[in-house]
Amino acid sequence: MNVVTRIAPSPTGRMHIGTVRTALFNYLFAKKYNGSFLIRIEDTDRERSKQEWTDAIWEDFAWCGIQPDATYVQSQHLIRHRELLNELVRSDRAYISEEPAKDDPSRSVAVVRLRNRGSIVSFDDLIRGTVTFDTTELGDFVIARSIDDPLYHFAVVVDDHDAGVTHVLRAEEHISNTPRQILIIEALGFPRPLYGHMPLILAPDRSKLSKRKHAASIDVYRTQGFLPEALINYLALLGWNPGSDREFFTLDELAEAFTIENVQKSGAVFDREKLRWYNRHYLLAKTKEEFDREALAVLRESLAGRVVWDESIGCALVPLIKERISVWDDVRVQAADGEYDFFFTDPILDTTKIAGKTTPVIAKEHLAHVHEILSQRPHEQHESPEMIKQHIWTYAEEKGRGAVLWPFRYALSGRERSPDPFIIASIIGREATLRRIHAACMHLHAL
Ligand code: GLU
Repeated sequence: MNVVTRIAPSPTGRMHIGTVRTALFNYLFAKKYNGSFLIRIEDTDRERSKQEWTDAIWEDFAWCGIQPDATYVQSQHLIRHRELLNELVRSDRAYISEEPAKDDPSRSVAVVRLRNRGSIVSFDDLIRGTVTFDTTELGDFVIARSIDDPLYHFAVVVDDHDAGVTHVLRAEEHISNTPRQILIIEALGFPRPLYGHMPLILAPDRSKLSKRKHAASIDVYRTQGFLPEALINYLALLGWNPGSDREFFTLDELAEAFTIENVQKSGAVFDREKLRWYNRHYLLAKTKEEFDREALAVLRESLAGRVVWDESIGCALVPLIKERISVWDDVRVQAADGEYDFFFTDPILDTTKIAGKTTPVIAKEHLAHVHEILSQRPHEQHESPEMIKQHIWTYAEEKGRGAVLWPFRYALSGRERSPDPFIIASIIGREATLRRIHAACMHLHAL
């Protein structure tokens, strides 16, 4: 069989990550069997569909690396839809029903209803097994608002058929639409595709992950600086397992490993921490050059308007950033919290905090001593944190680490939490280090 799958997003907003995952599973399934994967923009709801959302869908798929073999827009098929609606009416498998409009009963509309004999419909869902529905209570359901305006169920059936779709793999919420669509397929005399309904993506409280309540649209992750490789790898394992404990896959490796049998039935909880963990893995997998360049750009942009930028300090901060982040947005959040300002600008000190747990008199004595040790060192080009630590360590051990290192660190950063003083001193350099220790001493002196 020549496998053809599809994803059919409606352009009524930014794409939900559940849609991206469904697209991914369709893509992987098609690739696995050397078939084709299509993207169809379902813009039958003309009032809610917007061109800007369509554009965003293309952009988001391109960003993810999910490349379709063909794309089309549903509204281009209106003539074909009308033709088949007319055919159903002519053959009396559907009929035009004049009735009061739902939203305004004083107005009359001519909807198209399918003649439904009320049979039992069942299908073998690739994920859920046999699913059976009694269609009696659906009655003669509406398939078009008018002969020119098909409803979703009708348009989907026609478009899937015309595109040769063999496997309809879609979200679980569509399972109750399937019997209606099967009845339409039967009325049109089309062959039936195979169906598979994917498990829902759930929020940690096991409610449905929704765009209103949660960060659920793909652009949120994109703007936060998640990497597409990480998102794809994570989403693939959200509701599917490779049958082993392997965790890392490229898109091609996924296509090879993917099996519909290993897609689970029950909902899968979206775990942001796990996604962050994946993202960190892919961030660290970047070449040093690439990581350094991107980290520097994010840092520079995050500090704009906060500090006078110094390229060499920025570069010195990159290894620190590498240790501390899982996603680029972490840099922005840390920068907005002032966690990098003091590397560029002398901090404003709160005199009451300099001493930490020791007394101001002792703190001042230790700071003066640290100043002395460091100023006696020869002027070297650059001292690493380890070298600076070596100079101070014996003294700190002797006098009590907290009593020496807290005032030292606070003098340099002006913050209760920051990297250790050796790292800061190494990055800001000898001159700024000595100046800041001296300033802290002056504060204590003034007490
Ligand atoms: N347009 C529908 C949606 O966005 C998808 C329909 C389908 O997959 O059959 O949920």
